[in-house]
Amino acid sequence: MRNEDLKLINGALIEAIPATLAKGRGNETRRLLAQHEWLLRRKADGRFIAACTGSNFQLLLRDSKTRHQCETFLSNPAFPESESLRTVQAMLDFLGVDRAYGQQHDLSLTAEPPALSFAGFDRYRRPLWLHENAAKSWQRMQNASNHDGIILDAISGYRGHAYQFGIFKRKLARGQTVSEILKVNAAPGYSEHHSGRAIDIGTPGEPPAEESFENTEAFSWLREHAQDFGFRLSYPRDNPHDINYEPWHWYFAGGTLVPTVLRDYRD
Ligand SMILES: [Zn+2]
Repeated sequence: MRNEDLKLINGALIEAIPATLAKGRGNETRRLLAQHEWLLRRKADGRFIAACTGSNFQLLLRDSKTRHQCETFLSNPAFPESESLRTVQAMLDFLGVDRAYGQQHDLSLTAEPPALSFAGFDRYRRPLWLHENAAKSWQRMQNASNHDGIILDAISGYRGHAYQFGIFKRKLARGQTVSEILKVNAAPGYSEHHSGRAIDIGTPGEPPAEESFENTEAFSWLREHAQDFGFRLSYPRDNPHDINYEPWHWYFAGGTLVPTVLRDYRD
């Protein structure tokens, strides 16, 4: 199966990933993964809750709430972008984030896509999930950089709203206020990572997400070539979003067409 045929299916409360990409811990989990096509993960806490094939599923967490969530997801996994925006607005209201937040930071509310494509593995050997075209373009860009002797690795790609909401809930529980957290973390819904089009890029030997990345050959290579693959630097120094300089964070702004310049790198 080609990489781009491997999908993450994004539902309202649950996401499904191909069982072949999951690493099972324990004999029972490994047996379940070998027998089923999909692994279901609960978005709120990131826990793997069931394995399934078609509408047939086996629970990893045996409680009636989890069973009900799985049945609901499998009967209709569709989670339209409009629904995803309503859900994240409820998270923002729960946190009491000012409705003018987006305008103040020149950021727009970003929906979660209904599905994401497998884009290889990240630095930590976790599956990297990206928007379909971003996934293709990222892999072409990686091949092209390898050709020039530069290794690019992914630190992080798609992250859902619940992930960002979870950061806020953990910090609130430790006694921080929402306005303190907002100085360091984007409000749920306002991270480019929600779109599946943003990647934090690194290179071996370099710590993840540090400003020193700008002194690497990998960064110089990206400055010169990333735009040919549809990627741009989102947060240069003194950006209008009031976000710290992030030389590692690149956004795929390309459309559905593959620019002709990429033909050399097709495999
Ligand atoms: Zn980032």
